Amino acid sequence: MFEGVVMSGLKLPISLEFFPPKTPEGAEKLRGVREKLYALKPEFCSVTYGAGGSTQEGTFSTVSAILSEGVAAASHFSCIGATKASVREELATLKAMGVKRLVALRGDLPSGYGAGGEFHYASDLVSFIRTETGDDFHIEVAAYPEIHPQAKSPEADLQAFATKVKAGANSAITQYFYNSDAYFRFVDDAYKLGVDVPVVPGIMPITSSSQLLRFSDACGAEIPRWIRLRLQGYGDDIESIKAFGLDVVSDLCEQLINGGVPAIHFYTMNQSAATTEILRRLMDSAP
Ligand code: FAD
Repeated sequence: MFEGVVMSGLKLPISLEFFPPKTPEGAEKLRGVREKLYALKPEFCSVTYGAGGSTQEGTFSTVSAILSEGVAAASHFSCIGATKASVREELATLKAMGVKRLVALRGDLPSGYGAGGEFHYASDLVSFIRTETGDDFHIEVAAYPEIHPQAKSPEADLQAFATKVKAGANSAITQYFYNSDAYFRFVDDAYKLGVDVPVVPGIMPITSSSQLLRFSDACGAEIPRWIRLRLQGYGDDIESIKAFGLDVVSDLCEQLINGGVPAIHFYTMNQSAATTEILRRLMDSAP
């Protein structure tokens, strides 16, 4: 049992992200995964909202389960297509549940749907939450060190990030990346625009090849050529993919920790093994 990652005497908070399961069997399996991961003493666990066809009900019930297990939970909250009245109602529900942390997002509509709704960008949602609920919630926002795919330009994307932080965000979690230079450059550039909130790197363990390669193109994360080619070269050899993934992602985390990141957020993909092993290696490399 340990609390966060301890390297060079430094205690680093970690947080864990889950997506809502779609079936009762999935919920039971996730409960077991959480139980294992709680040994890592996360600062909080977050639950995605609306991604991959999941429902608001699924998010809220998973958040509720985490809270009932005595762990702080963050609900992701996307505003695309929402009205002020619907957001107000959901905020009241989350507050009544005892949720104190939100990840405020614009979100994505499935292709073919018009945007609609009363919110255009995550910054609109952040301002609305602050106006409606004061300091009731700690608000996280998303950051894209390798640039959001719909951004007009890198500069415009950075400016949009600064705008949503200034609208009232307390901290940010990044899209995953495998190039630490992109993260450090992003944090430096954001700081020059007056962003001084913690920007926590989001870490995606590598446990499979095709899914990661397919997903990354669409979400603003680049798989470096050398990683892509190595993964493709392993074909269906899942053990080699996992072993390679653990080496690559542990090295990435070590670079980030040495560079002074404020915390680490893991995209667990509802699995415990890779996150646990990466943290075990980081502990092992402590002096
Ligand atoms: P925004 O910050 O609003 O940015 C969206 C785009 O608009 C960017 O290209 C930005 O440059 C541009 N933009 C912003 N403001 C302006 C402006 N004023 N004028 C012009 N352009 C502007 N998706 C889900 O559906 N559910 C989840 O639970 C979820 N969790 C996530 C968690 C993290 C940590 C991250 C990094 C992403 C997550 N996503 C989730 C994905 C996210 O919803 C998408 O990336 C979405 O396309 C953008 O959301 P955002 O909040 O970053 O949007």
